[in-house]
Amino acid sequence: MFNKLPKIERNLRNDNPEAKHIKKQKRKKTLLILLGLLVAWGLINLCITLIFSRMIPHHYASAQEGRDLMLSNTEYYDNLTQNDLDYRMHKSGATKEEFLKVSGESVSDFYFFEKWYLNSRLARMMLHCKLKGYDFPEVNEIVFIKADMEMESGASGYTHGTQIYLNGGQITIYALMNIFPGFSEFMDKTLYHELFHCLTRSNPQFRTDMYSLIHFTVTDTEYELPPCVLERFISNPDVEHHNSYATFLIDGEPIDCYTAYTTTKSYAEAKSSFMSNSATVLVPIDGSDVYYTREQASNYDEVFGTNTGYVTDPEECMADNFAYAMLYGMKGSDGKGYPNPEIIQGIIDYLSSTIPSA
Ligand SMILES: [Zn+2]
Repeated sequence: MFNKLPKIERNLRNDNPEAKHIKKQKRKKTLLILLGLLVAWGLINLCITLIFSRMIPHHYASAQEGRDLMLSNTEYYDNLTQNDLDYRMHKSGATKEEFLKVSGESVSDFYFFEKWYLNSRLARMMLHCKLKGYDFPEVNEIVFIKADMEMESGASGYTHGTQIYLNGGQITIYALMNIFPGFSEFMDKTLYHELFHCLTRSNPQFRTDMYSLIHFTVTDTEYELPPCVLERFISNPDVEHHNSYATFLIDGEPIDCYTAYTTTKSYAEAKSSFMSNSATVLVPIDGSDVYYTREQASNYDEVFGTNTGYVTDPEECMADNFAYAMLYGMKGSDGKGYPNPEIIQGIIDYLSSTIPSA
């Protein structure tokens, strides 16, 4: 019994060969368990990405396909105003040909890790919606195109039809930084926002129902911009139509108006981006050559709500509300809800019920 005391002491000091071996085995076992957990986590992620990302029909365009698709949007490019061209090209007297050339050159190939990253984000978004019991309306195949956003004032993304153009620089950074928890929240918001535009184009009834949540009525009439608006008009590829209106109180009088995005000055006067010189104006649907400013409409905030400040058009306002509803639910990003919860609730109720077919 007394003889064992020195051994126990040596064990305690960990300089006994037997104790060393046991400790080494334990360390090995822990490492193997950690490795196993890591592999299992990787496999689960792989399966989730492969299964759920396919719930949104999509593919990634090569630079050539992206360029061809971009330039196939001829109706959009043909309708660009001189104001559009000048602001986008950062010079006065810019031509459509110059703009098309620079736009085409802005498209590039996705790296493999960027495609994988975007697929993993889409999968997580779809899994989240499935778990919440949301059903998205059907959407036509989406094509993701990587482009720099020089011509769109550094936007995170924009759309033409169901083509989603994503800011190339941002994707690379977000894909590389995805190891940090919560880092991809902004990218998820962008994807939900752009997805909303694709959903409204694939499903006119969905568009009508979503706009009604902010008091806009979609009509069969495409309103023609009057000369006083056209002169300063800035096209937005996310806004394909001017065919919805709401009733605004202008100096106390109810007037049915649609919205248009304009600049307050010409490029020659402003010499800066359209983002810093922009204004949303209200244009009466009766065709008169006038417009009203946001400040003139006493119920502007009541119409659009104030969940988002991006209220240049009902399409943009609802795309942001949709992203918030999907990302944060009724709690909101800070857990304090929203100034206009009824809009978010309306979206959630819609997606939780049976979706009318397109
Ligand atoms: Zn948008």
